Amino acid sequence: MILIIQNGYSCDYEMNLFASLFFGDDEDVIITQNFSYENKNINVYTHIVFEGKSYFEDYNFEFDIDNKTEKLIKKIFIASCTKSLSHAALKIRKINFSWGVMCGIRPAKNARELADEGYSESEIRGIFKNVYEVSDEKTDLALTVANNEKELLNKIGKNSVSLYIGIPFCPTRCVYCSFVSTDIRTSGKYMSAFFEKLLLEIEKTAELINETGVYIENIYIGGGTPTTLSSEQFEVLMKKLYDVFDLSKLIEFTVEAGRPDTINEEKLRVLKKYGVNRISINPQSMNDKTLKKIGRSHSVGMIYDAYKTAKIIGFDIINMDLIAGLPDETVEEFNNSLNEVIKLNPENITVHSLCIKRAASFRHTKNELAKADDMNEMLSYTQKRMKDEGYIPYYMYRQKNSSGNLENVGYAKHGTMSTYNVNIMEEKQTIIALGGGGSSKVIIGDRIERVFNFKDPLEYVRRFDEILTKKDEIKELMKGCDIDE
Ligand code: SF4
Repeated sequence: MILIIQNGYSCDYEMNLFASLFFGDDEDVIITQNFSYENKNINVYTHIVFEGKSYFEDYNFEFDIDNKTEKLIKKIFIASCTKSLSHAALKIRKINFSWGVMCGIRPAKNARELADEGYSESEIRGIFKNVYEVSDEKTDLALTVANNEKELLNKIGKNSVSLYIGIPFCPTRCVYCSFVSTDIRTSGKYMSAFFEKLLLEIEKTAELINETGVYIENIYIGGGTPTTLSSEQFEVLMKKLYDVFDLSKLIEFTVEAGRPDTINEEKLRVLKKYGVNRISINPQSMNDKTLKKIGRSHSVGMIYDAYKTAKIIGFDIINMDLIAGLPDETVEEFNNSLNEVIKLNPENITVHSLCIKRAASFRHTKNELAKADDMNEMLSYTQKRMKDEGYIPYYMYRQKNSSGNLENVGYAKHGTMSTYNVNIMEEKQTIIALGGGGSSKVIIGDRIERVFNFKDPLEYVRRFDEILTKKDEIKELMKGCDIDE
C-alpha cells in the first residue's frame, strides 16, 4: 500500500499518479512531504520509507507568485511536489522520465495554457525543461501538437455539437482492452435489443437537438467495434439519423470500423452511401504472431484486404491505429509494423503506447523496465518517420499506466486532421453521447458537465427509461450554454 502524507500543500491525484509509477499497490511505502513557500522560494522536503530504508529529497525552487495567475501558481506548486517526490523515488528505482514530472493527460493543453498566459515559445520551452524536466524531443512534440490543435479549435462552429454513438460489442476481446466492450460471442444475443433501443435514443436526442437550437457538426460512431453491426443494421441506423436530424451542416462523419474481421464490402458501401467520410481500420500490429497473442481474430492479410476494399469504394480519409509495446514485440517488429502501415499510405496514423492495467507488480519486473527504454525508441522512431513521410502530430494524450509513462499521438497528412479528435482532448464543444458506454460532455462556459450512459449492453436495455431521463438532464444542462437564438 502507498501511504502519502502531505503538509503545507496537497495534490493527492498527482502524488498518487507519480508514486504509482515507482511502486506497486502490493508494496508498502510511506511518503511524507512538507511544503513551504517563503521569500519567493518553494521548498518541498520528501521522505520515503521503503523496505526499511529512508530516502530523502530537499527540493528548492525560486518562484515569485506576485502577478501570476492562480492557474500558473497551482501548476508550479504541483510540479515542485511531484519533482521532489520523483527525485527521492529515483534513488530507489530508475524509470523512464521523458515527460519529466509533468502530470496530466494533455501535455499540449499545458503548452497552450502557458501561451494563453502570455509566455513566448522560448519561455514555454524553458518551463518545460526547468520546471517539468521534459526532454527536448517531447517538448517539440507538445508545442507542435498545441499549434496544430489551435488551427482546428478555431474552426468549431458556434452552436454546434458532436454526436457520439457507442456500439459496445467486439468480435473477441483484446487482452489489453480497457474500453467498454463485450465479446459478441457471449453478448451477441443482446445485440438486436440494444439496437432497437438505440434507435429510440436517437429519436429522443433529435427532440433535444431541435429544442435547444444547436446543430450537428460531427458524428462519431465508435465502440467497441461498430462494424459488428450488419450491413442491414447500418442501413437502418443511417436512415434513422438522416430522418430525424438535420445533417446539412455535418462536416465529419466517422465510423470506427476497427477490426478488419468485421469489415466487408457491403457494410462499407452502406457507410459510403450515407456520407461517412472517415473510417478507421486498426491493425495494432502488422505481425501475425502478435495479433494472435493479443486475442485478435484477424490476420495481417485481412488488414491489407480491408484497406484495399475501402480505398476502392472511395474512402478518402482512413485512419490506422498501432500500439507500441505489445507483449513480446521487439523494437524492430514495431518499426516494421509502422513501415508496413506507411506503405499503405493512409491519411491518418495513430500510435498508442500500451496501457497496462493489470497487477502493478508486473510493471516493475526487469523485463518491463527494459521495455520502457524500448518504448522510447519506438516512439522516437515513429516521430521521425512520421515527419519524414509528411504526417503532422495534431492530437495527443497520455494515459495513467501507459507503458513507459509515454503518450498516444494522432498523426495526419495535410488537410486530413479530425476536429472531433481534437475536441475530445480539448473539451471545447458539447458532445452528446448515445449507445453503450458513451459519456456526454456539456460545455457551459469554463465548466464541463458529464452525463454517463450505461456501459453494459444488457444494462442499457434493461434500464433504458433512465437513458431517456438522462437526455432530459442534458437538455436542462444545455439551457446554461451560450446558444444564439
Ligand atoms: S477492438 Fe478495441 S474495444 Fe474491442 S476488445 Fe479490442 S481493444 Fe477492446
